[in-house]
Amino acid sequence: MSEKKIIITIDGPSGVGKGTIAKKVAEKLGFSYLDTGAMYRAVALKISNLNINFDSEKELQSILDSTEISFSEDKIFLESEDISKKIRTEDISKLASTLATKKIVREFLVNLQRKIGESGNIVVEGRDMGTYVFPGADFKFYLDANLHERAKRRYLQLKDNDKSIDLETVKKDIEKRDTQDSERKESPLHPALNAVIIDTSDMGKSEVVKEILLRIGGSFK
Ligand code: C5P
Repeated sequence: MSEKKIIITIDGPSGVGKGTIAKKVAEKLGFSYLDTGAMYRAVALKISNLNINFDSEKELQSILDSTEISFSEDKIFLESEDISKKIRTEDISKLASTLATKKIVREFLVNLQRKIGESGNIVVEGRDMGTYVFPGADFKFYLDANLHERAKRRYLQLKDNDKSIDLETVKKDIEKRDTQDSERKESPLHPALNAVIIDTSDMGKSEVVKEILLRIGGSFK
C-alpha cells in the first residue's frame, strides 16, 4: 500500500443512501469513515436539548465553544453521551438542516472534519465534502436519485423507530431539506466540478458500491 493519505468524498442529497454506501466502501478498502451529517445532527440535538435562541450568534457561539463531538466504533458521542440513535429523528433532521445554513456552525464543524480527515485513508460523506471541505480529495463522488426513490429509502429507514410516519410526509420533508441545502449561501449542495456523478435511482446499494470501487480500483495501490 502506498504512503499517500487517500481521501474519498461522497456527497449527495438527503435519503440517497450515502451513509450505507460510504460505510461499505470504507470497509472494503480498510479505510475509516466519517459521517458529517451526524455532526450537524449532534449540534442540532444539543441546541434542541438546551432550548436556546439560536438566532443569537453570541449564544450559538458560546454553545459551540463548549461542544465536544467525537466518534468511536461507528458511534457518535456528544460530550460523553452516545447519541447515535437520538439524532435519527425527523425533528433533528429539520433542525440540523436549519443550523447548517449558519456560517458559525459550519466553520466549527468544518474545522473538526478537516482535523479528522488529516490522517487520511478515509471516506467522508456529506453535502460539501468535495466542493469545500476537501477540495483536493483524491476521488470525488456525487450520488443522486429521484425524489420518490429517496423518500422511499428514508421512509424504510425511519419506520422501524416511528410507526406513525408516512411516505408523503417524508417526501415533503426531504423536498424542503433539498431546497434548504441547495439554496443556502454557505456551501450549498452541488456536485464538485470533478466529481463522478452516479444516478442511483435504479441501482441497488451493492451495485453502487461496486461502481465506486471500480472507479477507484487499483489506482492508488
Ligand atoms: O446527511 P444527513 O441527512 O444526516 O444531514 C443532516 C443535515 O446536515 C443535512 O440536511 C444538511 O443540511 C446538513 N449537512 C450539511 N453538510 C454536510 C452534512 C450535512 O450541511 N457536510
